[in-house]
Amino acid sequence: MGKVIAVDGPAGAGKSTVSKIVAAKLGYTYIDTGAMYRAVGLKLLRTGTELAEIVDGIEIELDDKARVFLDGQEVTAEIRTPEISKLASDVSKFGFVRKKLTELQRKMAQRGSVIMDGRDIGTEVLPNADVKIFLTASLEERARRRFEELKAKGQAADFDAVKTEIALRDKQDTEREIAPLRQAADAVLVDSTNLTIEQVVAQILAICSTH
Ligand code: C5P
Repeated sequence: MGKVIAVDGPAGAGKSTVSKIVAAKLGYTYIDTGAMYRAVGLKLLRTGTELAEIVDGIEIELDDKARVFLDGQEVTAEIRTPEISKLASDVSKFGFVRKKLTELQRKMAQRGSVIMDGRDIGTEVLPNADVKIFLTASLEERARRRFEELKAKGQAADFDAVKTEIALRDKQDTEREIAPLRQAADAVLVDSTNLTIEQVVAQILAICSTH
């Protein structure tokens, strides 16, 4: 059985981009836990039902192509909007939401050979992970990347609005009481501000080979 790799960090640090590449290189499964919080946010937006009821019956699946399914229906594109980013962060502060998703995430990691990214993977979800990475970058650079990403998808975006949205979400994720965003004591810090995607991937692979 291969390793369990945990990747945490603030919004727009490049976690999912590099985790997907590392997963492909190692033949591992990539698990995007942010997508799961986004799916809860989307269901709340669509149904307006009590959050407790939503979480109770929710079915979230991630396939090997990083597609996301909510109650059997594909929502991969719908969950990537600024509105859902904010809603995901809002619902993620509730203990019962985190409990449900943490359970699902631990199950998904059971078979090993996984790389899982999020905010609390090294600290809460998989405290015994073989490798823990805390991936970060300056706010300016993270906002620039997110802005370019939205532009490439044809979604109208304003740089300052993107930067404010990321800063607010990080503040909310860092300051929440349950499982806040923080670097695990045994995580390796990777600052990607001045690194290319290839350089970050190489650093993570190097860290994996020594752990
Ligand atoms: O990673 P992504 O930006 O898709 O995550 C969306 C939101 O989901 C985050 O801002 C955070 O509030 C929440 N989240 C979390 N714990 C995780 C992953 C994501 O609270 N493990």
